Amino acid sequence: MTQHGSASRWKRDTMLVHGGRNTRLIDTAGTPTICPIYASTTYLHESADALDSAFSGTTATGEPAFVYARQANPNAYAFEDTMAQAESGVGALAFGSGMAAIHAALLAAGLVPGTKVLASQDMYGPTIGLLRRVFMPVGVEVVLGDLCGPDAANFIYEQQPDVVYVETLSNPLVKVVDLDAISAVAQEVGAVTVIDSTFTTPYLVRPIEHGFDLVVHSATKYIGGHGDSTGGIAISAKNTLLDQLRSYSMLLGAMLSPFESHLMLRGLRTLPLRMERHSSNALQVAHFLQQHEAVAQVYYPGLPDHPQHEIASRMLDHEHYGGLLSFDLKTQSREAAFRFMDKLQLCLPATTLGDIFSLVSYPAVSSHRTLTEAERQQIGITEGCIRLAVGIEYVEDIIQDLDQALR
Ligand SMILES: *Cc1c(COP(=O)(O)O)cnc(C)c1O
Repeated sequence: MTQHGSASRWKRDTMLVHGGRNTRLIDTAGTPTICPIYASTTYLHESADALDSAFSGTTATGEPAFVYARQANPNAYAFEDTMAQAESGVGALAFGSGMAAIHAALLAAGLVPGTKVLASQDMYGPTIGLLRRVFMPVGVEVVLGDLCGPDAANFIYEQQPDVVYVETLSNPLVKVVDLDAISAVAQEVGAVTVIDSTFTTPYLVRPIEHGFDLVVHSATKYIGGHGDSTGGIAISAKNTLLDQLRSYSMLLGAMLSPFESHLMLRGLRTLPLRMERHSSNALQVAHFLQQHEAVAQVYYPGLPDHPQHEIASRMLDHEHYGGLLSFDLKTQSREAAFRFMDKLQLCLPATTLGDIFSLVSYPAVSSHRTLTEAERQQIGITEGCIRLAVGIEYVEDIIQDLDQALR
């Protein structure tokens, strides 16, 4: 460490304001291998000319430049750059939550009054809420339909939407969206395609390689991975959409803080290891549940008898199918589901997924709470349906916990 500065010329009050400002690691002391957390809200440049250039986002030589933390910060930049590469995009923008990323992506995709968005009916509840409460009132037409089935392409063709929005895997029944079929017909009708790939992560699939325009993640889930940070990210296949994302991020004030960005990047470093374990654990748990006498039905795309196992196998890498599954208890009642959840000792009854921990949720009171029982039945969610986000624990411990709670 070294001290620079002209503190001797200044009065104490001034020195206190400026002291240590230039204290920094110099090269001879060693360069940190990890990007330090830059808590600074503003950045100084060596001349007004350089500042002028930095306002455009890059230095005169094209390096990333920072002026104000709401516009960009080095930690978010490090996370964005890594995610853009991981998803085969041209760039990415980090956001304060998954919902903020989805909001900005829908705006960037061009949802303005008079446009139409066609979205999957099996989506994450708050995303449907966002479409209904934020976009519909300003005159965006919102059409929900089954985009996981074989008629998806026809449906898009009939509807002629401006934007198509899907999730790679549905919640909680883990239905699979045929990315190639959807992007092909969307391109034909001139629709911008947006996909939420939270459940799959770039380890399992990169939707941009299947023709999608924008990919969003709740980084709160598998990307952060440790249940200790909230964030989102949107990755773009095209520079025009990336510029839109950047301007909405700045105007909405929805950027990710340097601290959270640091945690997300740190999480990302072990993503492949974790996804591998989540996936192999989930497959074993799915097989175990399938032969259990208290279980009526298991939904997991890695099971050969899952109706879309073939599509999943074609789309997803490494012969892995992710950590998410759901199952129906034979006794289809809220009481039986609650009794099962209360008996669990290892699996946590907490409303998230993608953590290192195994987590259970009961869609009827969590993600699909706002639907009536009849509406839930209609999309296949019974009163005995349990969602399980399989963690990275030793798999026999997970299985034993489920077994004792089921009995
Ligand atoms: C959690 C989640 C979101 C929302 O992300 P937040 O980080 O909670 O805002 C969006 N989509 C999916 C599929 C999710 O699981």
